[in-house]
Amino acid sequence: MRTHHRHLGGWGRLPRARSFVLDPANEAELLERLATDPVPLIARGLGRSYGDACTGDRLLLTRCLAAPLQLDGASGVLTAGAGHSLGEILNQTLPLGWAPAVLPGTRHVTLGGAVSADVHGKNHHVDGSFCRWVQALRVAAPDGTAGWCSREENPEQFSACSGGMGLAGLILEVRLQLVRRDTVTFQRLTLACDNLEMALLRLREAPQSHTVAWVDAASPGAKLGRCLVYLGDPVAGPHRELPRPARLKVPPLPFFNLVRPAASRAFNQLVWRGGHRRHGVADLQALDSFFWPLDAVDGWNHLYGHAGFLQFQCLLPVALLDERGAGPLHQLLELFATVGGGTLAVMKTMGEAGREVAPLAFPGPGATLALDLPACAETRKAVRQANRLVLDWGGRIYLAKDALLSAAEYRAMTPGLARWHGLRDRLDSQRRWQSDLSRRLEL
Ligand SMILES: Cc1cc2nc3c(=O)[nH]c(=O)nc-3n(C[C@H](O)[C@H](O)[C@H](O)COP(=O)(O)OP(=O)(O)OC[C@H]3O[C@@H](n4cnc5c(N)ncnc54)[C@H](O)[C@@H]3O)c2cc1C
Repeated sequence: MRTHHRHLGGWGRLPRARSFVLDPANEAELLERLATDPVPLIARGLGRSYGDACTGDRLLLTRCLAAPLQLDGASGVLTAGAGHSLGEILNQTLPLGWAPAVLPGTRHVTLGGAVSADVHGKNHHVDGSFCRWVQALRVAAPDGTAGWCSREENPEQFSACSGGMGLAGLILEVRLQLVRRDTVTFQRLTLACDNLEMALLRLREAPQSHTVAWVDAASPGAKLGRCLVYLGDPVAGPHRELPRPARLKVPPLPFFNLVRPAASRAFNQLVWRGGHRRHGVADLQALDSFFWPLDAVDGWNHLYGHAGFLQFQCLLPVALLDERGAGPLHQLLELFATVGGGTLAVMKTMGEAGREVAPLAFPGPGATLALDLPACAETRKAVRQANRLVLDWGGRIYLAKDALLSAAEYRAMTPGLARWHGLRDRLDSQRRWQSDLSRRLEL
């Protein structure tokens, strides 16, 4: 097996110590290593989790889990190796008229990463999150033996691995129900809203299957919190092409952080102006520009320079929104404005939680707010304050984005944690699967 030492952070590129990286050539090599070298390690897919979920002392790369895709053309059930990315899967299934029901904001996510974070997309309020569509998983146990689990067969293993952040087993293959997608065109309606309150109302009332709001989290005064709400549905249309490769590439910029408050304000102003002009306009969008505008620029995370960046993503519960409207969301924006404001902020309403299957899953009824901040002492302090506010409000923080939550805070905001610990302890009493995140949060 190929091995090497490397500094590997998450997508936020927060500096970390060198890891010992295991890069197996195939599944057999991977399982043999698990059986013969019983040391703690963590699976790493495409490293698109922002914080420390995919970092640790020993990383096991999973792109070798590339068992060929098998698609039942009648039922739309796909079985595939957990190392395939969603983009690679779409390239093969779209021409046959099928696609995963849930697509997160980048297509460069492996199947194993999508299951482990139970990822959500713009249609969460209608279709739930990724694990709702997973029928079965083939999982490697700590001793390197492998077997299938599902809601009926080994349900405890299925639950612990769904949304389990790689800490309950190594996912080798995924059996996933796809949905019919005869078109790759989406009709997108843009609504410019002067504030978060109006945008939240639009999102909550929208009949469309795909909804999200871009939020101006950098402009001062009354402009803070203005939003462009995007509401979309798949329609018959002209777009037939498969997702295109990135058009631009940002090289590593070791010493420069280009995302300064002034640049961030200018960027947000440009986005607002462009969107405001399209207020009330319904246009046709290809799949990739509708779902993954950020994928057009390869390596955009390098724009934050050597120190990297933090992403904050919270879920505020529906009861809080019913009582206080968008007030708490605005309070978070004001807090971040004191440290220069956030870039690339989005808000979205979410639907049912699905925690009976995935106890640690992040989504649930309410609204989620996500934004990026350059990593420095002030922004770390602001994120910690925001985490405490979210906890006080009965909300949650998304582990795939987090780097700063404390173990006590995570325990207090995660009612399913005791159940998950019980399941995981029966599967892995020796804590074979360990990441920086699992150590920080005492998982
Ligand atoms: C631009 C961008 C947009 C995003 N948008 C969204 C979004 O809209 N919705 C959303 O939910 N998320 C979103 N994300 C986060 C991303 O979807 C998740 O972090 C996802 O888990 C990343 O998958 P990955 O293959 O890169 O996994 P990694 O980041 O490498 O790992 C993530 C976790 O999965 C575990 N894991 C990976 N493979 C396996 C395996 N085979 N077996 C067991 N465990 C495994 C790892 O141990 C780790 O805990 C976004 C990320 C980016 C960069």
